[in-house]
Amino acid sequence: MLCLDTILFMDYDVIVIGGGPAGMMAAGRAAACGARVCLLEKNPTLGTKLLITGGGRSNVANAEFDQHIFLAKFHDAAKFLFSPLSPFGVQDTIDFFHGQGMPTKVEAEKRVFPVSFSAQSVCNALVRYMRVGRVTVLTDRVVVGLETIVDTVSGVRLKSGTLLQAQAYVLATGGQSRPETGSTGDGFRWLEMIGHTVIAPRPALVPLVIRESWVHALSGASFSDVKLSYFQGEKKIESRKGKILFTHFGLSGPLVLNMSRSISEFLEYGEVTVSLDFMPTKNIGEIDREIQVLFAAQKNKQVKNSFDGFLVPLIIPVLLKLTGINPDTPVHSVSRDERLSLARAVKDLRMTVTGLLGEDKAIVTSGGVSLEEVDCKYMRSRLYSNLYLVGDVLNIDRPSGGYSLQLCWTTGFVAGTAAAKTGTNTTDISRSMG
Ligand SMILES: Cc1cc2nc3c(=O)[nH]c(=O)nc-3n(C[C@H](O)[C@H](O)[C@H](O)COP(=O)(O)OP(=O)(O)OC[C@H]3O[C@@H](n4cnc5c(N)ncnc54)[C@H](O)[C@@H]3O)c2cc1C
Repeated sequence: MLCLDTILFMDYDVIVIGGGPAGMMAAGRAAACGARVCLLEKNPTLGTKLLITGGGRSNVANAEFDQHIFLAKFHDAAKFLFSPLSPFGVQDTIDFFHGQGMPTKVEAEKRVFPVSFSAQSVCNALVRYMRVGRVTVLTDRVVVGLETIVDTVSGVRLKSGTLLQAQAYVLATGGQSRPETGSTGDGFRWLEMIGHTVIAPRPALVPLVIRESWVHALSGASFSDVKLSYFQGEKKIESRKGKILFTHFGLSGPLVLNMSRSISEFLEYGEVTVSLDFMPTKNIGEIDREIQVLFAAQKNKQVKNSFDGFLVPLIIPVLLKLTGINPDTPVHSVSRDERLSLARAVKDLRMTVTGLLGEDKAIVTSGGVSLEEVDCKYMRSRLYSNLYLVGDVLNIDRPSGGYSLQLCWTTGFVAGTAAAKTGTNTTDISRSMG
């Protein structure tokens, strides 16, 4: 007996794996070219990462219309992108979204945003585009691998065990950054298994530059088992525990380096502050009681000399200064409020991140399938004649500023056009925008 998925998939020309921006563009375009298209997404909804782009406002492109300047941003991949940008460049992106009822505007550094300033409008525009082409969108479908016969892909295996087949396949599973959005590098693993070369993603491991000048006094001090959280505005983005090191310019150490990539992404869209919790396993009340015990044992000592064994000594003068407590005050004169503000500073020492050391603030991402194995004219694998590769799956270094999403639109459009041709066995695909 045929299961539901098998029945659903019997009649498709093109299967697109991944419902991010590149996959949705490829699916919509293939459908606009006449193919019967099915898109598979493992999340319950489409475009999870797209919705957090540009701080929720989605910087969809960069209005740099000079082809040479534009291509230079992609360094080694410039030559590869020359051909795909010709059928679908920056102006095409803007025209496309306007055509889908999503007007755009150009902001500082030529960044193009939806007028609505909402990434949801971008997602809605793509969903509309797919709907017009009658793309079948199946969410909650986890793909676990590709099946191949010699030099063609013969099917897509779902976690449920079902094998789904079409004439052409578009791989749009994204890269590996922000795995909670669904981009867990699955596509990279499958490509390696079928013989493609995947360049390992290079995480941006860079120290943070901090605005507050008091950090200089802590240069060289390291703290283990602390918790670092970072915020954009009032919103806490992420917290992790580990070891940090203060340097003469700010913060370093394994914990900071590992968080630097995601911090750099948020820095692009506004001020980022970090909060250091020196005692993550204790609450403010417990810390205050510890301070009380210390103080009770040395009532007449100056407060600056009464923290033996409490924290690394270098931090004490800084905490006293930040909480406005005179370091020469005798312990018995420290008020309850002062003590509590000290405990609060131990739990939440705030710093402002002004940038990343040794980087020009651009988010440069990398990693993915080697471009030598992709035919740039069609975004087709050189190893498998009916497999197309788009978006973050490709090993293309690019800066922030709308360039990543432009890559999704361009590669998605080109792959969608070519996959439709393979999927429907037609030879003349007109350049309709659907
Ligand atoms: C915080 C942040 C802000 C950003 N802001 C911008 C910006 O403003 N402008 C810009 O140009 N770029 C920005 N980027 C980069 C941009 O988001 C990516 O380049 C883009 O999302 C890549 O699109 P994609 O379709 O290739 O992959 P993704 O968006 O990663 O989508 C891949 C999809 O495939 C699905 N998938 C993965 N594995 C499977 C599987 N096994 N089975 C089924 N489905 C699967 C995933 O769930 C996901 O939905 C930002 C990135 C981040 C992290």
